[in-house]
Amino acid sequence: MTKLRVGIYLRLSNEDKLKNDESESIKNQRKMLMDYIDKNDSLVFKDEYSDENLSGAGTYRPEFERLIGDCEKGLIDVVLCKSQSRFSRDMEIVEKYLNNKFKEWNVRFIGVSDNTDTANNGNKKARQITGLVNEWFLEDVSENIRSAFKAKMNSGEFISPFAPYGYMISSSDNNKLIVDEEASLVVKRIFHLYLKGLGYKEIVKYLNDQNIDSPSLYKYKHGCRLNVVSQRPRELIKWNLNAVKTILNNEVYIGNLVQGKRTTVSYKNHKIVKRDKKDWITVPNTHKAIITNKVFNKVQEEIRTRTRVSSKNTIVHPFSHKVYCGLCNKSMRKKNSSKHQYLVCENPNCRNRHSIRYDVLEELILGNVNELCERYCDKYFITKEVNRQLNGQNKKHSKDITHLKEQYERKLSATLKCLKDVYYDRTTGLINEDQFQMLLNEYNKDIDDIKKYLNHLNDELNLNGEKEIVLDNILPFNKLTRVIVQEFIQKIIVGELIQDSRKIFIKWNL
Ligand SMILES: [Zn+2]
Repeated sequence: MTKLRVGIYLRLSNEDKLKNDESESIKNQRKMLMDYIDKNDSLVFKDEYSDENLSGAGTYRPEFERLIGDCEKGLIDVVLCKSQSRFSRDMEIVEKYLNNKFKEWNVRFIGVSDNTDTANNGNKKARQITGLVNEWFLEDVSENIRSAFKAKMNSGEFISPFAPYGYMISSSDNNKLIVDEEASLVVKRIFHLYLKGLGYKEIVKYLNDQNIDSPSLYKYKHGCRLNVVSQRPRELIKWNLNAVKTILNNEVYIGNLVQGKRTTVSYKNHKIVKRDKKDWITVPNTHKAIITNKVFNKVQEEIRTRTRVSSKNTIVHPFSHKVYCGLCNKSMRKKNSSKHQYLVCENPNCRNRHSIRYDVLEELILGNVNELCERYCDKYFITKEVNRQLNGQNKKHSKDITHLKEQYERKLSATLKCLKDVYYDRTTGLINEDQFQMLLNEYNKDIDDIKKYLNHLNDELNLNGEKEIVLDNILPFNKLTRVIVQEFIQKIIVGELIQDSRKIFIKWNL
């Protein structure tokens, strides 16, 4: 007797997640269906299709699609499910497949707990009624889920199955975010690069040049097989403008949860739509921050300023949006000639038409900043304070990196062991030459990646050793940077040139 090939379909629904009902878990569904196959001599297991990582009322179900595809290709004779509602609660889908397509493809559907069986013709009416009940239930439950999710969001519980880059979902509490040390270092770097004056585009280039895994690749490597990602070759998933932009704008990094930015149209129309910002649900201090409020707010301020600059993707010069015309109050714009750079009033009708040389202004401001520092700073106190803060930070940072290093060293020795096993398996003939070569390449690539990353961590650790800052080496500043200007200066007002002299007024940020 030829046995019927069975495809089992497993699904975790939102209501299961809310209820935290273990009996509905994927593991239990699987056990129930495998037991059923074992007890039926006419059935043999062929493949498993499991949609477990999905949220939102019935979002796209990749494994469901694969199951349907295999049925159409004739690879499956029986679709086995816990119940008809596990397969779908949507009347149209039930009608389309259970009552039509499956017949056409000669596929039988069995629902174990509700005794659905398309091989039994008298079952059709029952199936249709079940379908109607399910659909009614879906509509009802959809509203309940929406309000339950909303309540969870309001109380600051994290409800998405995927943590934002830089965080992980706590293994002890599904609704809590904890810091992912490795990725959080990258997040910190992105914020600091932006403050240093780099634009989105330069940051993207920097991250890709440094071979830092993009958030999607990182997610993929750490075991999250998102459909979108796995279809593309791993190497191609690079950092892009959107990824950097999203990170710099996300309040999650200062410890706030912002949820409910998007929603589905209805329980039947799963199109995702954006919500108005006023409807977003923000709960402060739900988890550990990666970025301080001070840095985050500065970055937001910079983003607002820079979006007004047309060339927002290039490196911002130190005086960008800081220099204004003393006559008309309009901004002084940078202008390049073959020899020098200049700043000039952007207003074509202004009388203050004489440009000022960039390097001249720079030197002048630098002198003033240094004079100010010389006059007001208590070097002894500042040195002590700076070193105290710095060493605190360094110690913490070193600890994080050492921790990561240990993790990666363990990973390395595990991979080396796998490699050894592969050689062993080849000599004993357990695997063939093709399999051997494939595994060999795979492991060698992993080993290379890990070693590269370990080197990188070592560099970072060396750079980060105990350091004493000697203020005399820093002050006076020998170059004006964007950070210095941002810190000290609110605006610079350049007056009209009268008889070879002009007034320059500095409004300090003190
Ligand atoms: Zn002007």
